[in-house]
Order: sequence, then C-alpha cells, then structure tokens
Amino acid sequence: MRARIGTTRFCLEPVTDRDGAIITAVFYGGKILPKKFYQLSREERLQQLVAEGSLAENDADYLAANHVLPSAVAAHLGENQLGQFPLPYGIARTLMVNGVTRNVAMVGEEPSVVAAASNGARMALAGGGVQVAVPEHTVTGEVVFADVADPDAAVALISSREDDIWDAAAYAHPSIIGRGGGLKQVQVQAIGQFVKIRLVIDPQAAMGANMVNTIAEAVAHMVGQWLHQEALLAILSNYTDDPVVATVAIPVAAVATKSLPGSVVAARIAAASAFGFIDEERATTNNKGIMNGIEAATIALGNDYRAVSTAVHAYAAQSGAYQPLTRWTTDGKMLHGQLRVPLQLGVVGGATAALPLAQIAMRLGKIATVADAQAVLAALGLVQNLAALRALVGPGIQSGHMALQAGALAIAAGATGTEIDALTHLLQTTDKTIGRAKELLAQLRADKQSEENDNEDRD
Ligand code: NDP
Repeated sequence: MRARIGTTRFCLEPVTDRDGAIITAVFYGGKILPKKFYQLSREERLQQLVAEGSLAENDADYLAANHVLPSAVAAHLGENQLGQFPLPYGIARTLMVNGVTRNVAMVGEEPSVVAAASNGARMALAGGGVQVAVPEHTVTGEVVFADVADPDAAVALISSREDDIWDAAAYAHPSIIGRGGGLKQVQVQAIGQFVKIRLVIDPQAAMGANMVNTIAEAVAHMVGQWLHQEALLAILSNYTDDPVVATVAIPVAAVATKSLPGSVVAARIAAASAFGFIDEERATTNNKGIMNGIEAATIALGNDYRAVSTAVHAYAAQSGAYQPLTRWTTDGKMLHGQLRVPLQLGVVGGATAALPLAQIAMRLGKIATVADAQAVLAALGLVQNLAALRALVGPGIQSGHMALQAGALAIAAGATGTEIDALTHLLQTTDKTIGRAKELLAQLRADKQSEENDNEDRD
C-alpha cells in the first residue's frame, strides 16, 4: 500500500534489502529511509522478527491474536509493542480496612500470593481488620546544580528569590493549583559543590511524577539564568520517609494451626519478626513477602510498580541497614502487627484511565482517592506478611505453596484443557516434580484412550 501525506510518499509494505532482510521503508523524495523498529506497525514488527528468524511463525500468530487491550491503546502504552502479556487477575477477599470491607484486585503469576492474602485478611478480621493512617500525599522534586563556584552565595541568592520559584511553579502547572495542589515547600541547600533545590509538591489525585518533573524543569530553567549555569538535573525523587502505617491486633486464637495453639504460633511469629531486625537475609525475604501483595495490587491498579518498589526498599534501608517493614509482638493474648511503608500511588493520570482492568480494580476495592489506595495496599502488605509468617513458623510454606503450584506444573508437563484439573488433582498426593507430572499425564492419557476404546467396543 502506498500513501501520500503532503509531499511525502510512504510505502507501507515490507521492502527487502539486497540480502533479503525486511527493511520496511519510507520513500521520501525518492530516497529509501529504512524505518526504525519502533516506527513499524505491530504487524510489521512481527513480520520482521519472523523474517529475521527471531520469532517462530506460530509465536507471531499467538502474539497477533492475543490482545485484551484495544490495539490503539496498547500501541500507545508500550514502545516496540509486539503483543500483550496476560497474567491472571484475581482478588483477595474481605480485607477489612478502617472498617470497610474490600476486595483487592491482584495481578501475578504465583497462585499462593492471592491465597495467602485472603487467608491473612480472614485472620485480621478476627481483630476487627486493619487500621491504616496515611500521610499527606506529596512528591518531592530535585533541581541540582553541579560545580557551583560559591555554593553558599548561590543558596543565599536562590533563597532570597523564593517568591519567584513559587510563581514559576504555578505558571508551569496551573491546573494543579486549581485543584488545590501544587508547590507546598521549597528548601535550598549546598552539598559540597552541588546546590540542591528541593520542591515538595502536592499532586492531588495523581501519583505526580510527570507533574513534578514539569515544575522542576521550569524552576531549573529560571534558576539557571540567575546562576549563569545550566542545572545538572531536574526530576522527582522516588524517595520518601513519610510512610503509610498499617496496624492490626488479633486474638492469638485466630492464628492457631492444626498442631499448635495460637499463643505458641503468635510467640513464634514475634520471634521470627525480631530475627529479621538482626539478620538482613531474613529481612529481605520478609519484605519480599510483603511486596508479593503490594506489587500485585499496584499492577492491578495500573500504577507504576517500579516507583513503588524503589521507594519501599529505599525506606527499608534508611537506617543504613536493610530492615523488615513489619514488626510483630505478642502479650500472649493478642498478636500485634505494624507495617510502615511509603506508597507512591495515583488514582488518576499515568496509565490508570487507559487500562479498563485498573478501573475495575478501583471499583472492586472501593478505591476513590489516593488515601484509599494507600490504605488498601498497606493493609494488604500487612496481612500478606502475617499469612507468610504463620505458615513459616507453623506447617512451613512448601506444602501450601506446592499444592497451589501443582496447576502450573501440570501445564508445564504438557497438560491441556480438562487434563490440567485432573493432573493437578493427582499431583496433590505425590512428588511435585516435572518428571512425575509427565508420568502421570501419560498414564491419564493412556487411561482415557483405553476408556474410549472400551466405549467403541460397546457401541
Ligand atoms: P500524569 O502525567 O498523567 O498527570 C496527571 C493527569 O491527571 C493530568 O493530566 C491531570 O490533569 C489529570 N488529573 C485529573 N484529575 C486530577 C486530580 N484530581 N488531581 C491530579 N491530577 C488530575 O500523571 P503523573 O504526573 O501522576 O505521573 C505519573 C506517571 O509518570 C506514571 O505513568 C509514571 O510511570 C510516570 N513517571 C514516573 C517516574 C518515576 O517514578 N521516577 C518518572 C517519570 C514518569 P491536568 O493536566 O489538567 O492537571
């Protein structure tokens, strides 16, 4: 297909070069300009990868056919987009947060994560659910100048013109002022030969990264003129030391296992928690368990999970040693748990409006504000941690984990359709290895075949 836009003629068909490689081309003024990979349509990219031997044709067909998002939306959310990557979207049930019961949408490839969250939510319910306090929602921007000849003089100059910084910030993003947000605080400091302007911004219902970057760049440009030098950088910081705090107090009976009374399990949970504060290897895995829930829910909300995880781990290390984000104690009657975690989230902006499943996640979880989202995710992280610790100090995590993992093992062994359920069931009472799964699948198929043969004989 050929098209003309203005004086430019386009050829939209794949064109091959002398070696036969596809160089889908734009004809411009008689010249062939090979299109860059990101400029190709999705179909052209798939065609090119098949042609160059990087992608099998049936894989290309799968990628072409498999889409949930409208193509135009997917093309704008991802660069070099080939397809979409579906993951299960499930919910943790009945998580009571500040007196309101929530269903929390979670996206992930590990079934035990959602199961543990629901289990943790059920235990927390025995204590009236999770109470969460959220901090003021602000994001910090940094404008940094390097190699400043007289840093103290620069700090004095910038501080004396703080009003201009407020004006520049308002001018750069007037709509956020209209919504009641915008710049809230300016701090200027010299750090060696660097000068840093710290801008604390209220992004209202948004996560705020782009908003803060816009304001920071405007301030950088203006201050650069005062200092007669360009800023080194102007961008938000993903760091925050103002955490969301989730707490729970549960009667110990609610954490009893088949073989251990609740008071013993609670004491063992508290001991495991204490060990995390003196052992970074344990602290890291403890926090991974928390992030199992928080990241899965962040993805379901269409939010930036990299921003969330970076901030969380930086916070965990803020004392200089990597520490657990939760602390559990017991007095023998109640088990007390607390999670402190920063959560940079938004309920508008970014990809939230473009992803229908993110909108559904908000409706499922009754999430209307950033504070709602923060409260739900912090509560989820806390109960996720509770379920993991109880399993760890009780029956161990492998029995429950591997029981749920059996489905994935059945698929990996080659089971399809109704075979998956049948094989998953058989794997519950035997070794959960790929070799054993393949043996059982072969047996299942042989049994089915002989049953069919018997039926034919009867007919
Ligand atoms: P956006 O750039 O999408 O800005 C927020 C949008 O929401 C604006 O268009 C704003 O409208 C609109 N809006 C509507 N109602 C409200 C309201 N009540 N309060 C606030 N805004 C409202 O999103 P963010 O600034 O939040 O940036 C988040 C994105 O930035 C994410 O996709 C993230 O991945 C990305 N990012 C992250 C970085 C990091 O973490 N380091 C770095 C750079 C980008 P209006 O324009 O009228 O104000």
